[in-house]
Amino acid sequence: MSESPLTSAPCKEAPSRHPPAHRGLPYRSWVEVSRSQIAANFQAIRDVVGPAVEVMPVVKADAYRHGAIEVSRTLEQQGARWLAVSNTEEGVALRDAGIQARILVMADFLPFTREAMLAYNLTPVIHSLEDLRELHRLAVARGERCRYHLKIDTGMGRLGVCSDAASLGEAILSAKHIELEGLMTHFASAANYQTTQTDDQIALFDKLAHGLNEAGIHPQLVHLSSTIPVAYGRRQAWRGMIRPGHAIYGYVSPARGHAPAKILQVKPALTWRATILSVKQVPAGSLIGYGGIFRAPRPMRVAVLAAGYADGIPHRLSNRGSVIVNGRFAPILGAVSMDLTSIDLTNSPETVAGDAVTLLGSEGDVSLDAQQIAKLAGTISYSVLCGIHARVKRVYV
Ligand SMILES: *Cc1c(COP(=O)(O)O)cnc(C)c1O
Repeated sequence: MSESPLTSAPCKEAPSRHPPAHRGLPYRSWVEVSRSQIAANFQAIRDVVGPAVEVMPVVKADAYRHGAIEVSRTLEQQGARWLAVSNTEEGVALRDAGIQARILVMADFLPFTREAMLAYNLTPVIHSLEDLRELHRLAVARGERCRYHLKIDTGMGRLGVCSDAASLGEAILSAKHIELEGLMTHFASAANYQTTQTDDQIALFDKLAHGLNEAGIHPQLVHLSSTIPVAYGRRQAWRGMIRPGHAIYGYVSPARGHAPAKILQVKPALTWRATILSVKQVPAGSLIGYGGIFRAPRPMRVAVLAAGYADGIPHRLSNRGSVIVNGRFAPILGAVSMDLTSIDLTNSPETVAGDAVTLLGSEGDVSLDAQQIAKLAGTISYSVLCGIHARVKRVYV
């Protein structure tokens, strides 16, 4: 039979501070978002493209989890006249919070969202001729003249119309009660300088736009670029408007191939922290967490963090990621579980339960950003940021 747990004493509780002096905030896990860094990133983008190019920050997916309302307020205060979201619900939430800027809804126009889209003065992106006719019908029924942006599929192979200029022109001109305000496309491989896909997309876009011009159609706003073509100076793709998301939050993905030098400098605006729930001393040979996939090679101090994959710590960081404790890296031990993550605290004897660690951000000279985490987890930085769950508190500093 198995040994009695009472005689084997597999681990010892480490002393905690009495009274507990919580070094952090009173949350299990939280993100601190720097409004001034969001503002600085927005201004850096504006400086790079100059005053002739309208910067429309993308605040979809709750502003890449930085909190869409606070981020949008900050950007509006900084002079942003346009914001872009993915769907109607996101746009409605911003209007309800008092955001006055124009709001472009990039990936919606589902039948059950159209009325709200118009009622809340959101501007739809139209991606099919059928939707164009439907918007026209709705506008006539409401007795309103509404504006829309039209997305062209120039080779991304996702959303966007792929008609020729003649049928497109005809559809636009016959929708007399709605106004084509913007013409746009989206690049599939902007960061990859080893393929001509972006140049091919630009050429196809220009051919179509030229065809529309010939038919007397001159949309006031033309936009093709997200962060990458701005950051690497692909000026022929800037036109009158750009749509940066990632750069607003302080990130520019690395480019592939012979990319020009990066001309945009931005910094991450978000720090993600978690509180230590418990600390124990374990003997050599102890197994840690689900599946026993980590075995302590020596006696160790092990801390359990009050955050897991349900908070957004990628499960793929099991036995491979690190967090920052007191300015030093501390490895993740064993499997990341739903609400808890174990780390090696052996090198931080001063750290006790109730203290906070940094999951993403920097302490002193040591830093860990979404790109580094993504690389370890086999994913992309966008997914790391968007993975930070809504239950993680947002704090604005
Ligand atoms: C998300 C998105 C953007 C922003 O992209 P970033 O790479 O984050 O700058 C721009 N345009 C469209 C259509 C998008 O879906």
